[in-house]
Amino acid sequence: MFKFLFIIYIAFLFMGLFRPILGIFSVLLFVLPIFILAPFSGRWWCAHLCPHGSFQDLFGLFIRHRRPLWLKSHWLRYGMFIIMFGFLGYIVFSKWGNWPSMGLALTKLLWSSTIMSIGLMTIAPARSWCNICPAGTVGKMLAPKKAKLMITTDCVYCRLCAKTCPMGLSPYKDRGKISGFTNPDCMRCGRCASFCFKHAIKIQ
Ligand code: SF4
Ligand code: SF4
Repeated sequence: MFKFLFIIYIAFLFMGLFRPILGIFSVLLFVLPIFILAPFSGRWWCAHLCPHGSFQDLFGLFIRHRRPLWLKSHWLRYGMFIIMFGFLGYIVFSKWGNWPSMGLALTKLLWSSTIMSIGLMTIAPARSWCNICPAGTVGKMLAPKKAKLMITTDCVYCRLCAKTCPMGLSPYKDRGKISGFTNPDCMRCGRCASFCFKHAIKIQ
């Protein structure tokens, strides 16, 4: 059922242009939950409930690009975080009380992140936006510092998990580690575990 959340995303993108007030709900639906859920479950939201993530997964069926190294740049990630949340804060404070105008501005912000995510998919894998998504960065910052996965010593270092991870992470590097794989960007999507032919990855 969750894989169809992209329908909600597309509906908000277009309906927000005609019913601007919906733009306010789009922020409440797409951004607020990560603040509430991340302290307990990290970026689990990103893989399972984020409508923008579901939207990108649609394209993932057809896209096979390699991930450019610059996508993992902290400068890009935190720059995007400051710019997008800066715009969000500016819109909320400058248009407070004028709800349709605020909604339209927020819808345009949603469109800008959508266009950026589609643009990225022309040169990088689907869900590359998740590497720099400001909401995802909130999820990373608030994520509990506990194991997301355990990599057993059955791992044979084939690196298939790293090749299939939508975030470009490398769980195999923590093979046999008692503290497990703790990378806060792990969304616990389970993709690496499903591809591991040695069944060496256990989701926590
Ligand atoms: S896919 Fe499994 S066996 Fe291969 S490197 Fe990853 S954890 Fe190890
Ligand atoms: S490490 Fe595995 S569970 Fe975590 S995001 Fe990557 S594929 Fe998903």
